[in-house]
Order: sequence, then structure tokens, then C-alpha cells
Amino acid sequence: MSSPQFSTGLLLRPDLPMCQTEFPLDWYQEEFKPYAEEFQALPDRLPGTVFKWLDSYVTPALDHFGDSLLLLAHFYMGGEIVKLVERYGGSVSDSYALSLKAREAPEKKVIVESAVHFMAESIALLAHDDQDVWITNPKAGCTMEMLAKDYMVLPVFDQLEERFGDDLLVISYMNTSGRIKAIAGRTGGAVCTSSNAHLVVKWARKKGKKILFVPDQHLGRNTAAKLGMDLNKLHLLPDPQSGAIHLDSREMDRIADSEMILWGSSCGVHTIFSGDMVRWWQERGWTTLIHPESPLDAVTAADGAGSTDFLWKAVQNAKPGSKLAIGTEGHFVRNAAELGKQNNVEVVHIADLPHDAVDSKGKPFASAGCGCATMSRNDPPHLAGILDLLRKGEAPEINKVYAGDSIDEITMRRERLAASEREELIQYARLSMERMIEIVNAG
Ligand code: SF4
Repeated sequence: MSSPQFSTGLLLRPDLPMCQTEFPLDWYQEEFKPYAEEFQALPDRLPGTVFKWLDSYVTPALDHFGDSLLLLAHFYMGGEIVKLVERYGGSVSDSYALSLKAREAPEKKVIVESAVHFMAESIALLAHDDQDVWITNPKAGCTMEMLAKDYMVLPVFDQLEERFGDDLLVISYMNTSGRIKAIAGRTGGAVCTSSNAHLVVKWARKKGKKILFVPDQHLGRNTAAKLGMDLNKLHLLPDPQSGAIHLDSREMDRIADSEMILWGSSCGVHTIFSGDMVRWWQERGWTTLIHPESPLDAVTAADGAGSTDFLWKAVQNAKPGSKLAIGTEGHFVRNAAELGKQNNVEVVHIADLPHDAVDSKGKPFASAGCGCATMSRNDPPHLAGILDLLRKGEAPEINKVYAGDSIDEITMRRERLAASEREELIQYARLSMERMIEIVNAG
């Protein structure tokens, strides 16, 4: 496994105010409140002011840890964390590339991640034994993954396994906990990313297995469409928000007739897109690119669909004068628009339509592009705070991430596995990731 290495190419301009949602003080962990108080008391949000404050904490930590420290962030981070992490020598990438960063750099012993919990856990899953992984804010959860926790999926999986036995195989999207990835590994299944889901599903179909695709229903459906599968052979499970799922005999019979079972989770940031939005931009000469966590009609209408890595590279490589309307997370598109400006490429968010724009039925579009609010809970006070607390040996234990951790991002209640259980989980979860690599390498 190896991860792509590149810089985002984003510049930190001293005159541009930093865009950061500010949270109420009582929302911070006790240990982080002093940093939040200081940040909120700064006279402005201009980089010159914010850097000076951040440097006072980050520089001593960089000096203290030297080469053993690795800072990581995901492309969807808001509040300029993407640029800040790069400024301090860190690395920004998509969730798959992030998961490999610690493994590829054994000299890094302290890994600090600014993104959501499952991403930090994926890093821990592949990390070496002497590497510690920390998340700047344990309240940062992926809502898609939060609706596919092991205690939600396992009871359904058990019912399906009882009925279909070895004929059932689980494909687990990267946006799952290690516990779900381990189920995939145990059933002979594999992990997939948004860029290789079609290869993994194709591989599973060749085995003649019934597939349980967890957690994103849209990626599952888009993948089936891309492979030319009969969409009537997809079975969508009940909405996980509606409570515990019990499959009665009638539903089981329908599942028996299906080829792929879709877990009913989705990403609120990506479900807002529609075919009408895509066509609105196309009719005005824009090239439309979209993430496959979006609904099928939007993905089908778009000129291209692919992962965050695909979308970022499309902007980096666009010819001057290009006009790109992109359908994905809002902070990403904002950063992509900044990048585009450096090369005379215009970038807009597909959902950011003029207020008088209407859909094909003459109705106004009801949404605007939004960012991943939960991921952006990792703000500058959290970055400054965790690095300072780590340097002082006072970082809260709840911010440390182990493979197999199950965390409730709302209550911060965490369930940690015993070492022997963790070992077993790591074996199965790694197996599911290694299968993905083999499938991708085999083309
Ligand atoms: S954008 Fe959606 S899928 Fe991505 S981390 Fe946020 S909630 Fe999860």
C-alpha cells in the first residue's frame, strides 16, 4: 500500500481573514478551554494575528518532538486547518491516503490528526505498535459512519448471516469503524474507497456472493449503476435513524432475491445534489464534477464523478479559462476555488445557485453548499491545545485513538477493546484493506 504524496498547492495570503466557525466555550473539553478563550479573544482572524498565537504553542511542540511528530488533516477540514497543517510541515489528503501515512513513516511516533474519528482510527489500524495516534477533537465524527456503528450493523449482519451463511460477503467503505472493516475481513470481503468501489463490487460479484454494502447507500447504488447492474436487484435496508432494524420474513425473502444489500446511511453534505442542479450549470457552459456519495440522478447527469483526490486533481490540472462546478463538501470547494484562481480556473459549488434559479419543475432550489460541520470541530484552538498538552505530557486520554475504539461522538463515551480482542480486530480489518489493494492491483 502506498499513499499519493503531493501538496495541496494552497497559499496562505496574509490579507485573507481565516474562515472559522466559533464554538461556545462550554462546548470544549475542559483541557482545551484556555486555548479556546485565548483564540476567541484575538482582535481579528487575519493570518498575521492567528499565526503569532498558534506559533506560540505549535513551535515549541515542533521543537520538542522534532521528526517524530506527524500532523495530518483531511481535505474537508474547514477553518483553514488544511493550510495550517501544511504550514507546520504536515500532510493533507483523502481518507485512504491518510490511513497509510503513519504506516509509511515508522520514524513518526506521535501522529496528530485533524479530521473525523474513523479516519484517525484507520490510521491507528495500520500504524506500527510504537506509534501513538491522537485526534484533536474526539467529538468530530462522520455522520455517515455515526449511523453505521457496530451496535447498529451487527444485529442486522447476524440475521443475514444466519439466513445466507457463507454466501454473504461484506464490503465496507472507508467511512466505517475498524469494527465494521473487521466484519468485512471475516466474511471474505474487502474495504473500498470511492475511487475503487466498482472494482471491489465487481470482484465480489465474480465470487457469486450476496453483498452487504456498508454504509453509504448512494455510493453503493452509483457503483451498481456504473457496473451496469440491475438496480431492481438492490435492496435498501430501513433508515438506521428509525431505530433498531429487524428484518422480518417478508423482507428476508426480498433480500434473498437481491444481489446487493445497501445499508441505509448517507452523507448529509452530499445528498443535497440533484440532476437538475447539475444540468443548470451545464446549460450555462460549466463542466460538472461530483463526488459519488451524491444521489444517482446527480452523478448520472454530471460530466465526471470521483473521489476528493480526483476532484482536487481536476482543479489542479484544469486548463486556464476552465469553469468547473463541483459537487462535494463546501470547505473543499472553497479551497478548490482558491486554488483555481491561481491558474485562472473558475470553481463554484454545484449547490450554490442564484436565488432566482429554478429546477425543471419551476421550483426554486432549496439548498446551498454546506461544509462537513462535524469534521470542522477540529479548530485552531484544538490544534494548538493538543500539541501543547502533548508536549507537556498532559493530553487527555480520550483524545488518544486505538484500533477498535467505539466512540459516541455526542456523549464522548468510548468503549475500548482488550488487547487480545484488538489484535484479532486488527488482523481482520487489515485483511479487508489488503484485499482491496490486491483487487485494485489486479485491475
Ligand atoms: S463529508 Fe460526509 S462522508 Fe465526509 S466525513 Fe463529513 S459526514 Fe462523513
